[in-house]
Amino acid sequence: MAAETLSQRGLQVDIYDAMPSPGRKFLLAGVGGMNITHSEASEQFARRYREASPWVETWLQQLDAEQLRHWVHGLGVQTFIGSSGRVFPVEMKAAPLLRAWLRRLREAGVYLHSRHRWTGWDAQRRLVFETPAGAETVDAVATVLALGGGSWGRLGSDGAWVKTLSEQGIDVAPLLPANCGFIADWSPYLRERFAGAPLKQVIATVTLADGSNQSRRGECIVTQDGLEGSLVYALSAPLRDRIITEGRARLRLDLAPDRSEQELSALLAKPRKGQSLASVLRKRAGLDPLKVALLHERLPAATLADASRLAAGIKSLPVELSATRPLDEAISSAGGIRRTEMDRGLMLKALPGVFCAGEMLDWEAPTGGYLLTACFASGRAAGNDLADWLSARP
Ligand SMILES: Cc1cc2nc3c(=O)[nH]c(=O)nc-3n(C[C@H](O)[C@H](O)[C@H](O)COP(=O)(O)OP(=O)(O)OC[C@H]3O[C@@H](n4cnc5c(N)ncnc54)[C@H](O)[C@@H]3O)c2cc1C
Repeated sequence: MAAETLSQRGLQVDIYDAMPSPGRKFLLAGVGGMNITHSEASEQFARRYREASPWVETWLQQLDAEQLRHWVHGLGVQTFIGSSGRVFPVEMKAAPLLRAWLRRLREAGVYLHSRHRWTGWDAQRRLVFETPAGAETVDAVATVLALGGGSWGRLGSDGAWVKTLSEQGIDVAPLLPANCGFIADWSPYLRERFAGAPLKQVIATVTLADGSNQSRRGECIVTQDGLEGSLVYALSAPLRDRIITEGRARLRLDLAPDRSEQELSALLAKPRKGQSLASVLRKRAGLDPLKVALLHERLPAATLADASRLAAGIKSLPVELSATRPLDEAISSAGGIRRTEMDRGLMLKALPGVFCAGEMLDWEAPTGGYLLTACFASGRAAGNDLADWLSARP
């Protein structure tokens, strides 16, 4: 997006990418349906970026969700708004969009150099690349770095730039998993019987450091060693932050969100008439075998035997999480170049003429199209900042 912006402003642009072809993570996002942006109101949209909202908002002023949709349409790809408000290309794929975009860039004179891995600068401040033909140096008037975060390294964004920029004195917040799975110590029984099973329609709650609660309703998957899926991704930032500060995090699950604790307690207190507890929980509380197994796993026998305490357990079942899944498996990464390292725009104060965009900047957001939107918007902002900076120079 920075390249397109710069090209439209009349500058000659060369793109260098370490991989044999560009946009590999973008294409992977297409496998999951390519949720490009979200249709919610702009104030709500901006709040998704947590502490970084005021910063991201300055980029969204140059390219917001609505403008991004128009931009996609301009590439001949129509979009639709799903029931959740998320925006997708009609074909739910990234490849047609990327193909059309690369063609348009090529026609505008933007040249793509693949298999060019940037490794830093030489003594003359030229960019240094590793290429199949050996080292290459490039004397650019100005540069936009858009090297991605630290997840899915095999798609190109391996976070190696953190060391390169740190050595230049740039302050980079550590790259951490965002929108990631978590580790829980399931019993062998739960693992063998339920790994891969969906935990449907629950409300998950995490208590934040300030004592307030953050809750989400949805689904997740019980894995061999923990939880994965949209529900835990949505709560991954507070869960991860709690694990960092306290060594573990507690997720509380409401396994029967459509029934009150009193209702459950009354239903469970009725005589069982020879039925097993599992059968009572299934028939009266509507709990499937996975939810019943979780109750057995997490609640002591005395609680299971007491209707009112069992009802309380169903409404707020504690699940201890000991770690995040590794960064490389995460959908995105938190951390990156801190805002304090930038001038008023997206140029590094310590390295005049070097601009940054995308996931390598220190912000994070949940899934829902917010990640790509901020990447695109920061690319537009970095391109404009660079063009303005060049035109202000003598
Ligand atoms: C499985 C998955 C699904 C996703 N689905 C969605 C979704 O539906 N919606 C959404 O909004 N977001 C989604 N995302 C997140 C989104 O894809 C990323 O946030 C976004 O691609 C980041 O863009 P970027 O340009 O900052 O970095 P990247 O897309 O990671 O691009 C960085 C580029 O820099 C290149 N590079 C890195 N280091 C070097 C170097 N040293 N020299 C040269 N080149 C280098 C890489 O090869 C790569 O091409 C998903 C991510 C994953 C992993």
